[in-house]
Amino acid sequence: MIDYSIFPKKIKALFFDMDGVLYDSMPNHAFTWVESFKAAGIDFPAYDAYMNEGATGNYTIKKVFRQLGREASEEDINRIYDHKSELMNKAPLAPIMPGMQQVVANTLAAGIKVIIVTGSKQPSLISRLNDDFNIGREDIVSGFDVKNGKPDPEPYLRALGKAACLADEAIVVENAPLGIISARAAGLLTVAVNTGILKPEVLSEAGASLVLDSTSQLAELWPNIIKS
Ligand code: CA
Repeated sequence: MIDYSIFPKKIKALFFDMDGVLYDSMPNHAFTWVESFKAAGIDFPAYDAYMNEGATGNYTIKKVFRQLGREASEEDINRIYDHKSELMNKAPLAPIMPGMQQVVANTLAAGIKVIIVTGSKQPSLISRLNDDFNIGREDIVSGFDVKNGKPDPEPYLRALGKAACLADEAIVVENAPLGIISARAAGLLTVAVNTGILKPEVLSEAGASLVLDSTSQLAELWPNIIKS
């Protein structure tokens, strides 16, 4: 049973993560991370790509090098990230997650402000948000807009600024532990959709108040969550 009393009585803003929430783009990200690290002679399992999801490329590369007892140089970072971007440009078009167009449309129709909060710098997906979800550039916080990406609270604090509301008047939908940590650090209640390969407890341990199996399940429960 879901305890709907955890949600704000009057929700003013909804912050949606992009990769793995709006688009099924994580398989592309995981594959291109594995391949670009492999080209640099580093073994990086797909599970780790999901664990680091939501962070900027810079953050992930530095972290992986540190785990190997090395510091990543600017050149290492650029080489690996450029290679990943190159592979991403050739990757198949990421499908929209089941039910998410309906979820976003229902949210907007309820008069709730919608902001997309993503660590991504992939213009290919960011530019689709307008056509697919009716979200303009002014309602997106991307990797281009922050100094410190997820798990830092900055992206979600910026979203709160854009929505001009308090943390207890907004909720977040995320799929990745670092994204949940970022949202929680900004004081936000977070619903997780486990759309990847992670164990669900990883998402609740990161601080999600509710962990759902899929975006379809979210779409089903959505009217109950947003009703004021
Ligand atoms: Ca994500």
